[in-house]
Amino acid sequence: MVLGKSLAAWRAEYPLLDELIALRETSWFNPGVVPASEALADVGLSAADVADASARLARFAPYLARVFPETAGQGGIIESDILALPRLQAVLSERHGLSAGGALWLKRDSHLPISGSIKARGGIYEVLKHAEGLALAAGLLKAGDDYGVLDSDAAQAFFGRYQIAVGSTGNLGLSIGIIAARLGFQATVHMSADARQWKKERLRAHGVRVVEYASDYSVAVAEGRRQAAADPRCHFVDDENSTHLFLGYAVAGERLRQQLAAAAIAVDAEHPLFVYLPCGVGGGPGGVAFGLKLAFGDAVRCLFAEPTHSPCMLLGVYSGRHDALSVQDFGIDNRTAADGLAVGRPSGFVGRAMQRLIDGYYTVSDEELFRCLALLEASEGQRLEPSALAGMPGLVRLLGERQGYRARLGLTPARLARATHLVWATGGSMVPEAEMAGYLARGRQLLQSE
Ligand SMILES: *Cc1c(COP(=O)(O)O)cnc(C)c1O
Repeated sequence: MVLGKSLAAWRAEYPLLDELIALRETSWFNPGVVPASEALADVGLSAADVADASARLARFAPYLARVFPETAGQGGIIESDILALPRLQAVLSERHGLSAGGALWLKRDSHLPISGSIKARGGIYEVLKHAEGLALAAGLLKAGDDYGVLDSDAAQAFFGRYQIAVGSTGNLGLSIGIIAARLGFQATVHMSADARQWKKERLRAHGVRVVEYASDYSVAVAEGRRQAAADPRCHFVDDENSTHLFLGYAVAGERLRQQLAAAAIAVDAEHPLFVYLPCGVGGGPGGVAFGLKLAFGDAVRCLFAEPTHSPCMLLGVYSGRHDALSVQDFGIDNRTAADGLAVGRPSGFVGRAMQRLIDGYYTVSDEELFRCLALLEASEGQRLEPSALAGMPGLVRLLGERQGYRARLGLTPARLARATHLVWATGGSMVPEAEMAGYLARGRQLLQSE
């Protein structure tokens, strides 16, 4: 029994469950999506909230440029570039027999400074927001100050009286831990069993306390939240519920709008933009998608991608039960090489806020993630971590769908030919060489035996 209903009854009511339980690659295009003008209000946050987050990041830019010299070239703004993928697109088209459907691009959050993943957006933002609040209240900062003053022994000693904690599968912990420790906070990261060893070692080298769990992400988060609740000087970064994290991610929307404009790429009703976002608990892709919807309205269409072993957001939105369900309730094991996506229960906040704004969800097998990893490397020389490849099959799923989605959107071949497809590459530039060599070897081997 799951939520008082037999498995047979669940399967009868939700036919896609059979495929999910069998761990087959699945796509679901949500017929319940409505225009952004109607659905944006579901989120409970506004364009002004995103602008406020953006302004806060601008205030911190002089500080970041000082303490993380790799951000100085961009004036302390943490942003990634976009890259056209013509060779990969040719390879994918041949492999899947696709006809032309627009141009394929990569958003390289894999190369974001400081922590090398999409978590350098939301994670770092939330710590900065918290630090600003404490510093303003204590008179350590005043409105209008150059935040570079926080790079001082006095500021470090001040923040050292406070703690920051987070539960993570790896990358969020890496982002939060590095920025929190640099500001002077006592930082604790509760790591799920999926977390890669090198991420733990890197954090310890930064002076961060790493607590390891033998269980999955939900347990690491719950335990971290419980321990933090006992300490009023401890701020817990709540990946499942935080609107601060969400807003930190959302800033990407307006920045991407400017990047595409600078590259003379049109996005409007006649030139749709499809964005394929790897999804774990949902905060990262949800926040980015919110920012994109604010920036482009209905001209942007977002799809979320999950491992076949961890389809928590698909399950939550498809069933309408969100965080009341975990994939384990249906015997799906949440064991995947895509450590950044190894989440069994979605964020209820993001699922409910974004369900009428996200066009579809699909799952990808671990084997296909590794094949995509090797294909991208061979064709374009880009190296990503397994989680970050989940966006790549999105174009194939879109062009091959038979659920009436393209017809519903009026996506004729002519309109598709003018589309831009953006694969959000969520991590990978900091993967150690030996680990990357192992990923590539696995991907090449899988391709050879195809
Ligand atoms: C965390 C992460 C994601 C997904 O973000 P969520 O907020 O967990 O949904 C995707 N890719 C990578 C590499 C990540 O680390």
